[in-house]
Order: sequence, then structure tokens, then C-alpha cells
Amino acid sequence: MPAPTQDAAEIAAALPVADAWFRARRVAPGVTLIDEPHVDLLLRANLYLVEGAERDMLIDSGMGIAPLAPFVAGLRAAPEKPLVHVLSHAHIDHMAGSWEFDTRLIHPREEKDLLLEVPDPLATLFRDEYPAELLEKFRASGYRPLPPVLVDAIPEAGFDLSAYAMKPAPATMLLEEGDRVELGDRAFLVLHLPGHSDGGIGLLDEVDGTFFSGDAIYDGPLILAGDLDEYRATLRRLRELEVGVVHGGHNDAFDQARMREICDDYLARWGG
Ligand SMILES: [Zn+2]
Repeated sequence: MPAPTQDAAEIAAALPVADAWFRARRVAPGVTLIDEPHVDLLLRANLYLVEGAERDMLIDSGMGIAPLAPFVAGLRAAPEKPLVHVLSHAHIDHMAGSWEFDTRLIHPREEKDLLLEVPDPLATLFRDEYPAELLEKFRASGYRPLPPVLVDAIPEAGFDLSAYAMKPAPATMLLEEGDRVELGDRAFLVLHLPGHSDGGIGLLDEVDGTFFSGDAIYDGPLILAGDLDEYRATLRRLRELEVGVVHGGHNDAFDQARMREICDDYLARWGG
């Protein structure tokens, strides 16, 4: 792996310390969106805390740059309740903080990815350490060129960007199509939505239509990192899904009409 270029090292050394690493915003009753504003947009995932009557659910865990568990505890109205941590999929921007939690629920097709037996080529905060073919894939998907350093601040004084690493976070339970995550007063149906990744899942509250879609669909450039035929089938399925508000793994929330547009757009690009 190449060392960070002189430029990147200089940028890293001059980064300010962030006032706060995570940002939280209530987006619906009982639903809090958490993100990492100092992480480059490509890797800035949306995490969701959903508070239920009997237990709370945390969807995804971000980049693992700063401790997430204490921040989440501080957001919860009743932190003594059980917390179920569900992973929409096992990509670095959604799973690198997952080792901090007691539970990790994921689809069986990505169970192994949480073990990190194969080093993740994206486990770096320096662009020039990314494999060239991945940079090309992001560019071809519609992302602007990445900056040399993938954060614009550090979480605490003395934080060493070059020491950034992922930790294994073995699954504690598996979630398959048709399973339900029960929170007491509400429940989420698990939809297996492969294509962005093999074991990507969405979580749908069938009562009010709240849909957490992971990276299967969001309002931004989609990335095909799994199987094309599966992704097409997922988009055809999502096109027909009855939902209210869609909270994606990246970018802003959107509605069913916009979900259809995005599906149609990508089905046209990817040969239906
Ligand atoms: Zn993502």
C-alpha cells in the first residue's frame, strides 16, 4: 500500500479538531438521523436511531473514527432499554463502529464480511491508498473526485489518521427476508435487497410506511458493488413497494414517487 503523499500528510497534519464528531437530527417521531459531517460525502453514511416502547434499534455504525456508543446512549430517552444494532450491509461506512455494540444483526450473505478476514481496501483515510479501479468506479458512478484526505477534521487532538483501522464485529444474529425486528410498539419487516452488496437489507414499518433502505436505494449516485441482475431485480421490486418516507443510507429522505423515479432511472441505465 503506498504511503500518503507529501501533500496528504501535510493536509492531515493541519486538520482542525472537530467540535463534535457526530451530528444528530430528529427526522420523525422516535427516529434520529446521525451522521459524520467531517467525513467526505462518499463515505458519509446515514445512521438511524429508532426508539421503541420495549427496545431501541440502531441502524448502521459509520466509519469507526470516533466512539459512537456513548453518543448514541446520550440520544436515547431510556438508555436502560435493550438496544438492537442492525447492519443494512457490511461496507466500511456502515459497519466500522459496530464492534462497540453488544448485538450485531446482519443478512447471512454478509456475515463473513464482519470478520474482516480479507482486509478491506477502503480501510484508510487517504485517497491515494485506495485501489485505482475503485476510484475509477466511484468516478464512473457519478461522484466528484475525492480529496486527498477523506476527513476535514480530526475527532480529538493528536488523532493519528494513519493509524485508522477497522475491527472485526462478528454477527450475533442473522436477519433474512421476511424476518421482523420488533421494538414493542412498532416492528420492521426485513427485505433482502441485493445489488449494491450481496446481503443488503431494507427495514420497512408496514404500518406507517417508514422505510430504511440502506444503500440499495438513496437519492444520489448508486453504486453497483454486487450482482447486476440482482440489483435490477431489487430496483424492480422497490419500484412497486408501497412506502411512506424513505430514509436511505446516504443523502436526504425522499418519498415513494421519488423512489420510483430513481428506480426507473437506474433500470434504464442498467438495461432494465
Ligand atoms: Zn454506504
